[in-house]
Amino acid sequence: MESAPTLTIQGADGAYPIFIRPGALADALPAFVAARRFSRVAVISNTTVGPLYGEALAARLPDAFLITVPDGEAHKTLSTATALYGELLAGGCDRSALVIALGGGVIGDLAGFVAATFMRGVAFIQAPTSLLAMVDASLGGKVGVDLPQGKNLVGAFKDPLAVFADTTTLRTLPPVERRCGLAETLKAGLIADPLLVAQLLASEPSPIEGVIARAVRVKKQAVEQDRLERGVRATLNLGHTFAHAIEQVSGYAWKHGEAVAVGLVAAARLSVRRGLAAPDLPITVERAVAALGLPARYSGLEPAALWDAMRHDKKFRGGAAHFVLLRDVGAPLMAADVPRADVIAVLESLREGA
Ligand code: NAD
Ligand code: MG
Repeated sequence: MESAPTLTIQGADGAYPIFIRPGALADALPAFVAARRFSRVAVISNTTVGPLYGEALAARLPDAFLITVPDGEAHKTLSTATALYGELLAGGCDRSALVIALGGGVIGDLAGFVAATFMRGVAFIQAPTSLLAMVDASLGGKVGVDLPQGKNLVGAFKDPLAVFADTTTLRTLPPVERRCGLAETLKAGLIADPLLVAQLLASEPSPIEGVIARAVRVKKQAVEQDRLERGVRATLNLGHTFAHAIEQVSGYAWKHGEAVAVGLVAAARLSVRRGLAAPDLPITVERAVAALGLPARYSGLEPAALWDAMRHDKKFRGGAAHFVLLRDVGAPLMAADVPRADVIAVLESLREGA
């Protein structure tokens, strides 16, 4: 029997359910698949997550088999996709097959891209196992792969039939990956949910299912209003203009979530500098970042180099400096034409030792 989802998201062809609960891979997902007809079920995972959860999941599904690819962003490529098309064919998949992405955001993007393109598109389920994938990457329908020239340059919009976030899988997630997921969770709270920020700051930890559900609700609201990312969805990039610059200028030595944490502090400081927010906003953001074990400072990177990288960010429309800033927690706005001097001053203030 199918149980009730935690919430639903309105996609291109109707609403799809999101299940956020311990054990979802053992009960809700198999029940969902059993209630529908698929010729074959391909569980796509990687060499880390596959052995932990993939064999057990495939064993619970009719006509299912597990495909594992090497772990890491370096494998989110067209050549891995090509290998996966071959495995799907060898496994007897046709247009009535189902692809399940079991893993972090890399697997979600890659398997989703394969599901969007194999036989012009087959049914797709997201089973995120990293916190970042549960609160961010598995939602909203964006899938894709990287090119040597840059990240996520080839892709599609592919809504899943459903998303199953089994929170028991987070027990094996490395602590640094958990912190990176918490950075995106904090971002969601800062954009639209002051109570979520309060939960993250509280000394008494809240159950993770509730925290995830609140962050998912923020992304749901943004993508439902703006599925193809033409406007409001851009507020989800809070802190990301700074983060992408730190990642790029450091030669990707920084993890995305840790760079986002610095970016959130930078966005809060820039908001005050532009006269938009009260001076205590960056203090709140820094306190939250610290409470989550995330960095609020960087070192070894030149502010001028970071500014140059920002100007080339693909989300910098027409070369103009667009930033997501905050009037307050829960009140984002898009700021156009932010002067270089303000950005440099904020970057200087966040340099370690400055
Ligand atoms: P990831 O997929 O590389 O996972 C991080 C690491 O954790 C990997 O080594 C993975 O194997 C491991 N892991 C995952 N779940 C585990 C578990 N339960 N137990 C043990 N190990 C586990 O990285 P990520 O942070 O999950 O996702 C980042 C990717 O998501 C990037 O490629 C990014 O572009 C993409 N992304 C996409 C969207 C979107 O809207 N499509 C949004 C945000 C990010
Ligand atoms: Mg991000």
